[in-house]
Amino acid sequence: MKPIDSAERDRLPGRRLGPDDTFRFRCHPGVSCFNRCCRNLNLFLYPYDVVRLKNCLGISSEEFLDRHVDVVLRDGSFFPDVLLQMADNAEKTCPFLTPEGCAVYPDRPDTCRTFPVEQGVVFGDDGRPREIVHFFRPPDFCRGQDSTRQWTPRTWERDQQAAVYHRMTARWAEVRGLFYRDPWGPGGMESPKGKMAFMATYNMDRFRDFVFHSSFLKRYRVPSRLARKARSSDAELLKIGFAWVKLYIWGIRSKEIMPRG
Ligand code: SF4
Ligand code: SF4
Repeated sequence: MKPIDSAERDRLPGRRLGPDDTFRFRCHPGVSCFNRCCRNLNLFLYPYDVVRLKNCLGISSEEFLDRHVDVVLRDGSFFPDVLLQMADNAEKTCPFLTPEGCAVYPDRPDTCRTFPVEQGVVFGDDGRPREIVHFFRPPDFCRGQDSTRQWTPRTWERDQQAAVYHRMTARWAEVRGLFYRDPWGPGGMESPKGKMAFMATYNMDRFRDFVFHSSFLKRYRVPSRLARKARSSDAELLKIGFAWVKLYIWGIRSKEIMPRG
Protein backbone atom coordinates (compact mmCIF):
# COMPACT_ATOMS: atom_id res chain seq x y z
CA MET A 1 0.00 0.00 0.00
CA LYS A 2 1.67 3.18 -1.10
CA PRO A 3 0.89 6.84 -0.38
CA ILE A 4 -0.42 8.62 -3.48
CA ASP A 5 -1.97 12.02 -4.19
CA SER A 6 -5.31 12.55 -5.95
CA ALA A 7 -3.73 13.51 -9.29
CA GLU A 8 -1.57 10.37 -9.28
CA ARG A 9 -4.63 8.24 -8.40
CA ASP A 10 -6.29 9.13 -11.71
CA ARG A 11 -3.16 8.24 -13.68
CA LEU A 12 -2.39 4.84 -12.14
CA PRO A 13 -2.49 1.86 -14.51
CA GLY A 14 -4.86 -1.06 -13.98
CA ARG A 15 -8.61 -1.32 -13.42
CA ARG A 16 -9.84 0.70 -10.45
CA LEU A 17 -11.93 -1.44 -8.11
CA GLY A 18 -14.69 0.00 -5.95
CA PRO A 19 -15.64 -1.91 -2.78
CA ASP A 20 -18.25 -4.04 -4.61
CA ASP A 21 -16.43 -4.41 -7.94
CA THR A 22 -15.23 -7.88 -8.77
CA PHE A 23 -12.21 -9.38 -10.47
CA ARG A 24 -11.46 -12.93 -11.56
CA PHE A 25 -8.33 -14.66 -10.39
CA ARG A 26 -6.86 -17.91 -9.12
CA CYS A 27 -3.21 -18.81 -8.70
CA HIS A 28 -2.09 -22.41 -8.15
CA PRO A 29 0.94 -24.60 -8.93
CA GLY A 30 -0.76 -25.91 -12.09
CA VAL A 31 -0.67 -22.56 -13.97
CA SER A 32 1.84 -22.33 -16.82
CA CYS A 33 3.27 -19.12 -15.35
CA PHE A 34 3.82 -20.60 -11.87
CA ASN A 35 6.51 -18.57 -10.03
CA ARG A 36 7.13 -16.29 -13.01
CA CYS A 37 5.95 -13.24 -11.08
CA CYS A 38 8.53 -13.76 -8.28
CA ARG A 39 11.55 -12.44 -10.17
CA ASN A 40 13.20 -9.19 -11.12
CA LEU A 41 10.94 -7.17 -8.84
CA ASN A 42 11.09 -3.76 -7.25
CA LEU A 43 9.57 -5.19 -4.10
CA PHE A 44 9.13 -2.51 -1.44
CA LEU A 45 9.11 -3.82 2.11
CA TYR A 46 7.09 -1.96 4.72
CA PRO A 47 8.04 -2.07 8.41
CA TYR A 48 5.53 -4.81 9.26
CA ASP A 49 6.83 -6.89 6.33
CA VAL A 50 10.32 -6.77 7.85
CA VAL A 51 8.99 -7.84 11.26
CA ARG A 52 7.19 -10.85 9.78
CA LEU A 53 10.03 -11.89 7.48
CA LYS A 54 12.84 -11.66 10.02
CA ASN A 55 10.76 -13.63 12.54
CA CYS A 56 9.92 -16.22 9.89
CA LEU A 57 13.63 -16.60 9.07
CA GLY A 58 14.61 -16.62 12.77
CA ILE A 59 17.12 -13.77 12.43
CA SER A 60 17.38 -10.32 14.00
CA SER A 61 16.05 -7.24 12.23
CA GLU A 62 19.65 -6.03 11.88
CA GLU A 63 20.72 -9.26 10.16
CA PHE A 64 17.67 -9.11 7.91
CA LEU A 65 18.41 -5.54 6.85
CA ASP A 66 22.10 -6.37 6.27
CA ARG A 67 21.46 -9.50 4.25
CA HIS A 68 18.29 -8.85 2.32
CA VAL A 69 17.55 -5.22 1.55
CA ASP A 70 18.67 -2.13 -0.31
CA VAL A 71 17.82 1.18 1.33
CA VAL A 72 17.05 3.86 -1.27
CA LEU A 73 16.03 7.51 -1.13
CA ARG A 74 13.61 8.41 -3.91
CA ASP A 75 13.35 11.88 -5.47
CA GLY A 76 10.91 14.11 -3.62
CA SER A 77 10.91 11.98 -0.48
CA PHE A 78 12.71 12.58 2.80
CA PHE A 79 12.54 9.07 4.22
CA PRO A 80 14.25 6.08 2.62
CA ASP A 81 12.42 3.12 1.13
CA VAL A 82 13.44 -0.46 1.73
CA LEU A 83 13.65 -2.82 -1.24
CA LEU A 84 14.08 -6.58 -1.10
CA GLN A 85 17.34 -7.56 -2.83
CA MET A 86 16.78 -10.07 -5.60
CA ALA A 87 19.15 -13.06 -5.86
CA ASP A 88 22.36 -12.64 -7.84
CA ASN A 89 21.39 -14.95 -10.71
CA ALA A 90 20.44 -14.48 -14.36
CA GLU A 91 16.72 -14.22 -13.63
CA LYS A 92 17.12 -12.12 -10.48
CA THR A 93 14.71 -14.35 -8.61
CA CYS A 94 13.29 -13.44 -5.22
CA PRO A 95 15.63 -14.93 -2.58
CA PHE A 96 12.65 -16.76 -1.06
CA LEU A 97 11.55 -18.45 -4.26
CA THR A 98 11.82 -22.26 -4.44
CA PRO A 99 10.66 -24.66 -7.17
CA GLU A 100 7.66 -25.45 -4.95
CA GLY A 101 6.74 -21.79 -4.49
CA CYS A 102 7.31 -19.16 -1.83
CA ALA A 103 9.42 -20.37 1.11
CA VAL A 104 8.04 -17.61 3.38
CA TYR A 105 4.42 -17.92 2.20
CA PRO A 106 2.69 -17.50 5.62
CA ASP A 107 4.79 -14.35 6.18
CA ARG A 108 5.06 -13.06 2.61
CA PRO A 109 5.09 -9.27 2.26
CA ASP A 110 1.96 -7.15 1.91
CA THR A 111 2.56 -6.51 -1.80
CA CYS A 112 2.85 -10.26 -2.60
CA ARG A 113 -0.20 -11.01 -0.47
CA THR A 114 -2.39 -8.43 -2.17
CA PHE A 115 -1.12 -9.16 -5.71
CA PRO A 116 -2.62 -8.90 -8.37
CA VAL A 117 -4.47 -6.10 -6.61
CA GLU A 118 -2.51 -2.98 -5.68
CA GLN A 119 -3.62 -0.77 -2.81
CA GLY A 120 -2.88 2.91 -2.32
CA VAL A 121 -3.75 5.54 0.26
CA VAL A 122 -4.82 8.89 -1.16
CA PHE A 123 -3.72 11.84 0.98
CA GLY A 124 -5.61 15.14 1.17
CA ASP A 125 -3.95 18.55 0.97
CA ASP A 126 -3.79 18.55 4.80
CA GLY A 127 -1.46 15.51 4.62
CA ARG A 128 -4.04 13.18 6.17
CA PRO A 129 -5.13 9.87 4.59
CA ARG A 130 -8.45 10.39 2.78
CA GLU A 131 -9.23 7.26 0.85
CA ILE A 132 -7.96 3.73 0.18
CA VAL A 133 -8.03 2.77 -3.50
CA HIS A 134 -7.62 -0.62 -5.20
CA PHE A 135 -6.44 -1.46 -8.70
CA PHE A 136 -6.54 -4.84 -10.41
CA ARG A 137 -3.31 -5.04 -12.38
CA PRO A 138 -1.96 -8.51 -13.13
CA PRO A 139 0.93 -8.60 -15.63
CA ASP A 140 -0.08 -9.84 -19.11
CA PHE A 141 1.69 -13.17 -18.59
CA CYS A 142 -0.32 -13.94 -15.44
CA ARG A 143 -2.71 -16.78 -16.26
CA GLY A 144 -4.46 -16.50 -12.91
CA GLN A 145 -6.78 -13.97 -14.55
CA ASP A 146 -8.21 -16.70 -16.83
CA SER A 147 -10.00 -18.21 -13.84
CA THR A 148 -13.73 -17.83 -13.28
CA ARG A 149 -13.25 -17.45 -9.51
CA GLN A 150 -14.60 -14.02 -8.47
CA TRP A 151 -13.45 -11.72 -5.69
CA THR A 152 -14.07 -8.25 -4.34
CA PRO A 153 -11.22 -6.34 -2.63
CA ARG A 154 -12.72 -7.38 0.73
CA THR A 155 -13.13 -11.11 -0.01
CA TRP A 156 -9.62 -11.18 -1.49
CA GLU A 157 -8.18 -9.54 1.62
CA ARG A 158 -9.92 -12.15 3.79
CA ASP A 159 -8.74 -15.04 1.62
CA GLN A 160 -5.14 -13.84 1.71
CA GLN A 161 -5.24 -13.12 5.48
CA ALA A 162 -4.10 -9.63 4.61
CA ALA A 163 -6.19 -7.56 7.06
CA VAL A 164 -3.47 -7.23 9.71
CA TYR A 165 -0.95 -6.29 7.00
CA HIS A 166 -3.29 -3.67 5.61
CA ARG A 167 -3.93 -2.20 9.06
CA MET A 168 -0.21 -1.95 9.80
CA THR A 169 0.62 -0.62 6.35
CA ALA A 170 -2.13 2.02 6.65
CA ARG A 171 -0.55 3.17 9.94
CA TRP A 172 2.82 3.28 8.21
CA ALA A 173 1.42 5.18 5.21
CA GLU A 174 0.18 7.85 7.60
CA VAL A 175 3.70 8.32 8.99
CA ARG A 176 5.42 7.89 5.63
CA GLY A 177 3.15 10.49 4.02
CA LEU A 178 4.56 13.15 6.38
CA PHE A 179 7.99 12.75 4.81
CA TYR A 180 7.14 14.51 1.58
CA ARG A 181 8.35 17.56 3.51
CA ASP A 182 11.95 17.82 4.72
CA PRO A 183 12.21 17.64 8.51
CA TRP A 184 15.97 17.09 8.66
CA GLY A 185 17.69 20.30 7.68
CA PRO A 186 21.37 20.30 6.62
CA GLY A 187 22.24 16.96 8.31
CA GLY A 188 19.71 15.12 6.10
CA MET A 189 18.62 11.59 6.82
CA GLU A 190 22.16 10.79 8.04
CA SER A 191 21.63 13.05 11.08
CA PRO A 192 21.20 11.27 14.45
CA LYS A 193 17.46 12.05 14.31
CA GLY A 194 17.18 10.47 10.86
CA LYS A 195 18.95 7.32 12.03
CA MET A 196 16.70 7.11 15.10
CA ALA A 197 13.58 7.40 12.93
CA PHE A 198 14.78 4.58 10.67
CA MET A 199 15.56 2.40 13.68
CA ALA A 200 12.11 3.03 15.22
CA THR A 201 10.37 1.84 12.05
CA TYR A 202 12.60 -0.83 10.52
CA ASN A 203 14.88 -2.20 13.23
CA MET A 204 12.59 -3.53 15.97
CA ASP A 205 15.28 -5.45 17.86
CA ARG A 206 17.40 -2.32 18.27
CA PHE A 207 14.33 -0.18 19.01
CA ARG A 208 13.17 -2.61 21.74
CA ASP A 209 16.57 -2.28 23.41
CA PHE A 210 16.31 1.50 23.15
CA VAL A 211 12.78 1.64 24.60
CA PHE A 212 13.31 -0.76 27.49
CA HIS A 213 16.99 -0.20 28.34
CA SER A 214 17.31 3.58 28.24
CA SER A 215 15.51 6.52 29.86
CA PHE A 216 12.86 6.37 27.09
CA LEU A 217 9.98 5.37 29.39
CA LYS A 218 11.01 8.05 31.89
CA ARG A 219 10.78 10.68 29.14
CA TYR A 220 7.64 9.39 27.40
CA ARG A 221 4.37 8.00 28.73
CA VAL A 222 3.20 4.87 26.90
CA PRO A 223 -0.08 3.21 27.99
CA SER A 224 0.94 0.38 30.32
CA ARG A 225 -0.97 -2.28 28.36
CA LEU A 226 0.78 -1.32 25.13
CA ALA A 227 4.19 -1.14 26.83
CA ARG A 228 3.65 -4.61 28.37
CA LYS A 229 2.69 -6.17 25.04
CA ALA A 230 5.54 -4.42 23.21
CA ARG A 231 8.10 -6.24 25.35
CA SER A 232 7.38 -9.42 23.43
CA SER A 233 5.45 -8.33 20.33
CA ASP A 234 7.23 -6.63 17.44
CA ALA A 235 3.89 -5.52 15.97
CA GLU A 236 2.92 -3.69 19.18
CA LEU A 237 6.40 -2.20 19.44
CA LEU A 238 6.06 -0.97 15.88
CA LYS A 239 2.91 0.96 16.88
CA ILE A 240 5.03 2.76 19.50
CA GLY A 241 7.72 3.33 16.85
CA PHE A 242 5.29 4.95 14.42
CA ALA A 243 3.78 7.13 17.15
CA TRP A 244 7.22 8.11 18.41
CA VAL A 245 8.44 9.18 14.95
CA LYS A 246 5.34 11.37 14.59
CA LEU A 247 6.03 12.96 17.97
CA TYR A 248 9.83 13.12 17.87
CA ILE A 249 10.18 14.38 14.31
CA TRP A 250 6.90 16.21 13.73
CA GLY A 251 5.62 17.06 17.23
CA ILE A 252 2.34 15.19 16.59
CA ARG A 253 0.87 13.69 19.75
CA SER A 254 -1.15 10.46 19.81
CA LYS A 255 -2.70 8.13 22.36
CA GLU A 256 0.23 5.70 22.04
CA ILE A 257 2.85 8.12 23.36
CA MET A 258 3.01 11.44 25.23
CA PRO A 259 6.00 13.38 26.58
CA ARG A 260 6.19 13.26 30.40
CA GLY A 261 6.22 16.44 32.40
S1 SF4 B 1 8.27 -13.24 -1.00
FE1 SF4 B 1 7.36 -15.09 -1.84
S2 SF4 B 1 5.55 -14.40 -2.96
FE2 SF4 B 1 6.86 -12.61 -2.62
S3 SF4 B 1 8.14 -12.45 -4.44
FE3 SF4 B 1 9.27 -13.65 -2.94
S4 SF4 B 1 8.78 -15.80 -3.41
FE4 SF4 B 1 7.26 -14.50 -4.44
S1 SF4 C 1 1.87 -14.89 -12.66
FE1 SF4 C 1 -0.17 -14.91 -11.72
S2 SF4 C 1 -0.98 -17.02 -11.94
FE2 SF4 C 1 1.24 -17.00 -12.42
S3 SF4 C 1 2.19 -17.61 -10.51
FE3 SF4 C 1 2.17 -15.38 -10.52
S4 SF4 C 1 0.24 -14.80 -9.52
FE4 SF4 C 1 0.11 -16.98 -10.02
